[in-house]
Amino acid sequence: MNYYSTRDRELRISGAEAVKMGLSRDGGLLTPESIPQIDRAFLEGLVNARYQTRAAKVMALYLTDYTEEELAAFAENAYGPDKFDTEAVAPVRCLDENTCCLELWHGPTSAFKDMALQMLPQLLSAALEKTGEDKTACILVATSGDTGKAAMEGFADVPRTKILVFYPKDGVSKVQEAQMVTQEGENVGVCAVVGNFDDAQAGVKRIFSDAAIREALAERGYFLSSANSINWGRILPQVVYYISAYCDLLREGKIEMGQKINFCVPTGNFGDILAAYYAKRMGLPVGKLICASNRNDVLTDFLRTGIYDRNRPFHTTMSPSMDILVSSNLERLLFDLSGEDDKEVAGYMEALAKEGRYEVSPSVKAALQEEFWGGFCDEAGTSAAIAAYNKERGYLMDTHTAVAASVMEQYRQATGDTAMTVFVSTASPYKFCDHVLRAVGEEPRGDGVELLDQLHEVSGVAVPRRLAALRGKERRFDLTAEKAGMDGVVLDFLR
Ligand SMILES: *Cc1c(COP(=O)(O)O)cnc(C)c1O
Repeated sequence: MNYYSTRDRELRISGAEAVKMGLSRDGGLLTPESIPQIDRAFLEGLVNARYQTRAAKVMALYLTDYTEEELAAFAENAYGPDKFDTEAVAPVRCLDENTCCLELWHGPTSAFKDMALQMLPQLLSAALEKTGEDKTACILVATSGDTGKAAMEGFADVPRTKILVFYPKDGVSKVQEAQMVTQEGENVGVCAVVGNFDDAQAGVKRIFSDAAIREALAERGYFLSSANSINWGRILPQVVYYISAYCDLLREGKIEMGQKINFCVPTGNFGDILAAYYAKRMGLPVGKLICASNRNDVLTDFLRTGIYDRNRPFHTTMSPSMDILVSSNLERLLFDLSGEDDKEVAGYMEALAKEGRYEVSPSVKAALQEEFWGGFCDEAGTSAAIAAYNKERGYLMDTHTAVAASVMEQYRQATGDTAMTVFVSTASPYKFCDHVLRAVGEEPRGDGVELLDQLHEVSGVAVPRRLAALRGKERRFDLTAEKAGMDGVVLDFLR
């Protein structure tokens, strides 16, 4: 299986090269040249398999330049008991006969980014070997919280990689900061940046495009790489859990083979829901894909009108990982829905860059509406969903998951569809203790990790062990830089 670019169908590169490059040089996203098909027998073969086996079998369909044994070994490392707090890895919890929740936060950082970031470093490390690369990859990350920690945890002590994370000094939660500055591993580094997330991100982008820095690093044996969600190596591990969820529902007798189910996904950069779309395109019996947004409802409007317009106010919400106005991964969907028309996609992206807006063709719009339903949920709705699910169903959700639950209810009311629907839970409620406590009517007593016990008293749900362990953990990093000093931090880190 080869990969080409959403802006250039002539390009042909291997899976390993796609993982190593991250983004195509023409600015497009690297995408498989065909979508492998799975049938009933494939699914039947996975029903009684462990998550790790399911991951290796699904990924092998796309990464034909990796052996299934290699992928199986990566899956063991990524999803084993030292990393995930449940053997199921991505368990499905059913709340009633047609509503289930796919929990993706049982990994080391308690957010769904772990599902991909436990796998990507191993794919990348092997890709260096496979492509004859002699340099070490240095991953630079600007983070608003979740991605930086999950990336460090994934890359820690992975051979031939180093990782340096920049976070905005006053822009992450106390739990998130504690998670990052206590990170273990010989190849990791963390630095606070004076400013907000945009300052950190702009600094990282500038370093990536600085030829002098690139040259200096190449002389020392390094090249810069990125771990953000446009890398195919982050999308593919996410396809696995949709197929896995279907197999679990089959095994539990909740659905019959071939029965269509819906997925409702809390969406930011469109990576998670795109993976669900690929699972459907592979032949998984899926009905509607429900795209849930918070107050930043650019995708809701897009799915309803066919017009993507980022010219609107940016809202800071209690579901910060979904506060985003440009969903990069949408480009892969447009490529597929347009019949892989690279010129058409390049046109949309050019309009987005120039005017912040584009309108898709009538045929793309029709295809979008056939596959997706979009809705959004404001702050009051998010809190109300947390309270209602906690009270009526005894199920405690984080703020991102609550957005999905609320939009799922809206979808059911609007359409009358009663099909089995799986909504996706992307973070542990313990990552957002203060908002969750307030939503269930409690006044937070304290801040950051101090709130873990209070939420435990209210919910009775166990505190994830890694979050609990933060309390006694030694701080390893205490570096702060001005935006202009970030280059120096990189050069020092890669001595
Ligand atoms: C990243 C993230 C999302 C959004 O996922 P996308 O793939 O960017 O759409 C949702 N919830 C949480 C908790 C996240 O960390």
